[in-house]
Amino acid sequence: MQLVGKNRGGSSTWLSQPKPKQILPLPAMARVSINLSGESAKKKTDLVVGIDLGTTNSLVAIIDPETGKPKAISGDNSNEVITPSVIHFTEDGRFDVGSSARDMLIENPEKTVYSVKRLLGKSYNDVSEFESTYGYKIIDEDADSLVKIKLGDRFFSPIELSAEILKELKHKAEKHLNQEISKAVITVPAYFNDAQRQATRDAGKLAGLEVLRIVNEPTAASLAYGIGQDKSTQKTVAVYDLGGGTFDISILRIEDGIFEVLATNGNTFLGGDDFDRAIVSHWVRSTDLDETTLDAKQIQKLRLLAEEAKKRLSSQETVSLEFESKSLTISRLDFESSVNALVQETLDCCERAVKDSGLNMDEIEEVVMVGGSTRTPYVVQKVSNYFRSSKIDNSLDPDEIVALGAAIEADILAGNRRDILLLDVTPLSLGIETLGGLMDVIIPRNSRVPFRAGRNYTTSIDGQVNLKISVFQGERDQVTENRKLAEFILNGIPAMPAGLPKIEIAFMLDADGILKVRAKELRSGVEQTIDVKPQYGLTDEEVETMLLDSLKNAKQDMEYRSLQEAINESEYLITTTVKFIENNQGDLTDEQVTEINRLVSALKESIAQGSKDDIQQKQDDLNVYTKPFAEEMMDKSIGKALKGKSIQ
Ligand code: AMP
Repeated sequence: MQLVGKNRGGSSTWLSQPKPKQILPLPAMARVSINLSGESAKKKTDLVVGIDLGTTNSLVAIIDPETGKPKAISGDNSNEVITPSVIHFTEDGRFDVGSSARDMLIENPEKTVYSVKRLLGKSYNDVSEFESTYGYKIIDEDADSLVKIKLGDRFFSPIELSAEILKELKHKAEKHLNQEISKAVITVPAYFNDAQRQATRDAGKLAGLEVLRIVNEPTAASLAYGIGQDKSTQKTVAVYDLGGGTFDISILRIEDGIFEVLATNGNTFLGGDDFDRAIVSHWVRSTDLDETTLDAKQIQKLRLLAEEAKKRLSSQETVSLEFESKSLTISRLDFESSVNALVQETLDCCERAVKDSGLNMDEIEEVVMVGGSTRTPYVVQKVSNYFRSSKIDNSLDPDEIVALGAAIEADILAGNRRDILLLDVTPLSLGIETLGGLMDVIIPRNSRVPFRAGRNYTTSIDGQVNLKISVFQGERDQVTENRKLAEFILNGIPAMPAGLPKIEIAFMLDADGILKVRAKELRSGVEQTIDVKPQYGLTDEEVETMLLDSLKNAKQDMEYRSLQEAINESEYLITTTVKFIENNQGDLTDEQVTEINRLVSALKESIAQGSKDDIQQKQDDLNVYTKPFAEEMMDKSIGKALKGKSIQ
């Protein structure tokens, strides 16, 4: 059984968006300061850390109580603030996280997990095409449920493994600060969908952290540069984030302390790792090195060597390294020509993002450079040539920026900065399936979050006592072309004629982009609420493809929608006409009944043929013919009522 949208029937549609001021009420907490010597226990546990849970590396940061500035926290025995996002499952069944785990990538690749962030909130179907790039085993038992990773004879979800990284960061912060940490802000890419955000939040929970907010990485990066910290800021910035394995470009508009993501683009398989591979290819081309003769360990070693060369080339003109008693050399010029196509690919993404944002290039005032690969001078040079008139921000450590911004957001949420609001948008429209398989959008794409919206619907069948509510995400008019997020049944609606129940469906999208759906039959008060936790998520490519598809198919979709709406309307008209004849038989002549039935049959035939214009014509014919009778009957009923008789 399906829903009928009541938009055309003159019923209510409600949409509400709270004023920006009300969107993010800041918790009324006391000011928190970190003073290791003399703070009260209560205040100490209020400390909120900022975490950048990265694909390659992760960091944790706080606001330094001495300087009031954000700072990344280093480990006990080193000045190293970076924790490699690598997890090794040891022989005795423990998890080892960070640099020591990374060292095991060569020795024990089957039990060493890297890039687990790519798997968060994903099904096997989502990741199968890049499965071969992993040294560990991804399980494909049930293609539609969330992936699992096999380590030895145990199975782990990406959430559990990400939780191990978060535990390590929590531990690192606790050791450094000498106090317990229980609250955090965690960053995610701006394009992360509901499932991926939820998975990140769950990983936090599993690590013993209350995740106060999931923040978009570009928002955090801008904050780190102080952009938007001052309420009067009005600025449009591009955040260019080139890490080890991923590239993201986001265009943000910052106004009144509000961060709005205007557009995102990128490539989830483009980053510094590809630069390393380009160096290896250069060596293969320019020496007698033959990669096909190397075993897995040697290949891994060669990759690490290439990375070393790349890093050195950021400050040196030429690098020579030893591999298996061979000397491998590369100049900066060779390197630049090897990676030129890769860098150009990032600029193509920038072009698409700028176009999607609807802005001109000269409206972008600043470019924030994020990610370790923006240390390559060639990248900075190409990006600054591309964004001609913009100021390039690359003074901060590109590895730390996102974590530093997360620490600032954490500070805001701890109640220390009441002057800033952060706002993001939802990347795809959210809606429900209505009669004829149509997508009825309740929260449009690019709506600011948090967002609350709803609509009233009714039933299509007499005596319908339950309703299936299917929630979809996407831009196409036909739900089959969109991604189903959830489905639930609203039971216990009292039996009523079709069209009488008033079912209010409310969508509540919270500040983290997580959706809650409530369905309520207003006449009886029957209600049901679900948290939409999709079984599997969308890849960012899918988000992009869905958007492109919706543009490509806009005309076809519109035709489908108007035909479907004409059919829905006609079916409703037929039902009411049949009822009308039943109820008013005594007042109609045989000829009139025959003519009405003929017109109804003509309309039914037209529906079967599926031509929208003809359906509308036949609908009009029926309406024109029955209108005088309907009016006459109405007058009679009113007349009867006025004489003290009840209306039928
Ligand atoms: P991220 O994912 O942001 O941590 O970035 C990691 C990537 O940055 C890796 O591909 C590193 O090899 C790369 N990277 C780190 N330091 C440098 C450097 N000095 N020059 C070029 N690339 C670097």
